[in-house]
Amino acid sequence: MATGKAAIFAQPNTPMEIQDLPIPDVEPGAILIKVTMANICGSDIHIFKGDQPMQKVPQVIGHEMMGKVEELGKDIKEDSNGLPLAKDDRVAYQYFYFCGRCYSCINGDRTGCIRLFRHNVDIGVHPHFSGAFAEYYYLRPNHFVFKVPDELPDEVVSPLNCALSQVLFGWHKIGLTAGDNVLIQGAGGLGLYAVAVAREMGASKIIVTEKRQDRLELAGAFGADHLINIDEYEKEGDRVKMVREVTGGRGCDVAMELTGNPAAVPEGLRMLRVFGKYMIIGSISPSHVANISLGRMVFSNLTMKGIGAYEPWAMPLAMDFLSKNKDKYPFEQIISHKYSLAEINDAIKDTMEGKVTRAAIVP
Ligand SMILES: [Zn+2]
Ligand SMILES: [Zn+2]
Repeated sequence: MATGKAAIFAQPNTPMEIQDLPIPDVEPGAILIKVTMANICGSDIHIFKGDQPMQKVPQVIGHEMMGKVEELGKDIKEDSNGLPLAKDDRVAYQYFYFCGRCYSCINGDRTGCIRLFRHNVDIGVHPHFSGAFAEYYYLRPNHFVFKVPDELPDEVVSPLNCALSQVLFGWHKIGLTAGDNVLIQGAGGLGLYAVAVAREMGASKIIVTEKRQDRLELAGAFGADHLINIDEYEKEGDRVKMVREVTGGRGCDVAMELTGNPAAVPEGLRMLRVFGKYMIIGSISPSHVANISLGRMVFSNLTMKGIGAYEPWAMPLAMDFLSKNKDKYPFEQIISHKYSLAEINDAIKDTMEGKVTRAAIVP
């Protein structure tokens, strides 16, 4: 029996072990992917630390990735955009599935699908490879897959299926329009993409708050106008004042939270203008609780929205965005460090210690 290697997540805060799993047979409509790059996203750290409700274990975690077509299931001849698809083609793909059989799915709000992430992830059962930190990934029938143009290297494309598509979709959903003053909290991988996408969508001023100076400077290279190191101001009120000054006293039109720190939410709401709109993406744990002023929500007429996935149309848009802007922004700097699959525990540790912008596993 042919096997492939996978890093197994058995319990929170415990190093993952590499195991051999059977390479699955490919059903009609499915695709077996040879993973070429898998990144450690902030969500993986939340899962690793046990912030998420207990995941079914043992399982293969990781979701931000890309790969090459290893084997196409019967009947698959094209990608989701109608381009011909063959063995060894480089592809990016969604890591979740719309069931088509729940109220959100039939209502056109598929990102709220109740079965989005609830497929069988038992490593002992076909298809075994259900996560990114492995040599293979099994794209189940009903997937969305997109061919990657040759001009975009793995380092630039691998964050597309999570970080980039998520923030691109997020700005659409919160209604960013040309001329808006924009606040982005957090300049990790998602924050950096959020800056460049907002810039290309016609934002006026882009303000970024972050505690790490090197990340802030990178945000500048991605098009941010005002960089606020939150450690340089003793009080939240001083940072709010700074944002008001930069926006002519008004506050920001739209904001996106990409820190994963609940304390960012009340602060970000104070930085909005009246009728401002706030998008939460970074704080994914149900145990994340924020202390927000409801009176401010009411009398400032604020809108607050959360989003945990994206529609497939975001992926080809994100791909075109990268092709068009690949020489304009330093996308290749987002993946700051590479590790082998055997080094996954080092990659997790370095990410938790803030030593990397985004760590990539090259299985
Ligand atoms: Zn992610
Ligand atoms: Zn559904």
